[in-house]
Amino acid sequence: MNADLHCHSAVSDGTLEPEALAARAKANGVELWALTDHDEIGGQQRAIAAAGALGLPYLTGTEISVTFADVTVHIVGLGFDPDNAALAAGLHATRGGRRERAMEMSEGLAKVGIHGAYDGALQYVGNPELISRTHFARFLVETNVCHDTSEVFRKYLVEGKPGFVPHRWATLRNAVHWITDAGGIAVIAHPARYKFSANEEYALFSEFKAHGGRGVEVVTGSHSSADAVRYTETALEYGLLASRGSDFHSPDESHIDLGKLPALPARLTPVWTALESRIHVAA
Ligand code: AMP
Ligand code: MN
Ligand code: MN
Ligand code: MN
Repeated sequence: MNADLHCHSAVSDGTLEPEALAARAKANGVELWALTDHDEIGGQQRAIAAAGALGLPYLTGTEISVTFADVTVHIVGLGFDPDNAALAAGLHATRGGRRERAMEMSEGLAKVGIHGAYDGALQYVGNPELISRTHFARFLVETNVCHDTSEVFRKYLVEGKPGFVPHRWATLRNAVHWITDAGGIAVIAHPARYKFSANEEYALFSEFKAHGGRGVEVVTGSHSSADAVRYTETALEYGLLASRGSDFHSPDESHIDLGKLPALPARLTPVWTALESRIHVAA
């Protein structure tokens, strides 16, 4: 099954609208799709409608920013009720503070001679509540400060660099509960990205399971093939369902397109086998 259960629209930090993503997923052969905007479900009804019109099976999605052991960890939610009020309120609270953080990021960049970054980043923002580092990165590429977005992150937007502002996101407990209480399944996104020690990773996976989390991304645009091998073992060790998603953001920036990922290893149980009743199909 060509499932792609992780991508972003202009409702968060992607560049395409939900309708354009649905069309691209369909054209690329995706057979089950989820739009997982950061801390936001404002695009879900549009994604459901667009996928339905194309006959593309759809699972609701989001990617929640969490602070765990002082590190930002992302938790994907799949197959929840998009009208659940507690989930919406939790995401709204998680988005709060992004504007202030962005203004502080801009001040940090001004100190190294990059002026007007807040207003510059805003030009790329589709959802005013969701100004993110990605929008700053686009501005710094467009103004020729850097060659591409990964250079911007490396030089300006990660810990220790002038545009980095630490931020406290949702707790792991809350994020997992918001998703599961809304009928969905919580999934640890791209675990290789966190560079955790063995002890830290044990803590993350154990606490995640204790809160009711059930899945982990194994095949993602953020993992190398070695990472996928490693997290296949981790998924089996912890008895977690496996997910697959490109993390597609933009035709110009993302190196893996929607639906263009390796298959999940056959030993794993795909997360969608536990979400059959939650799949939206054409009316
Ligand atoms: P934020 O939620 O504002 O901290 O922004 C996080 C987003 O920045 C992620 O979802 C990615 O889209 C993007 N990002 C993080 N690290 C990198 C990187 N090294 N290169 C390009 N994009 C990145
Ligand atoms: Mn992103
Ligand atoms: Mn992520
Ligand atoms: Mn993502």
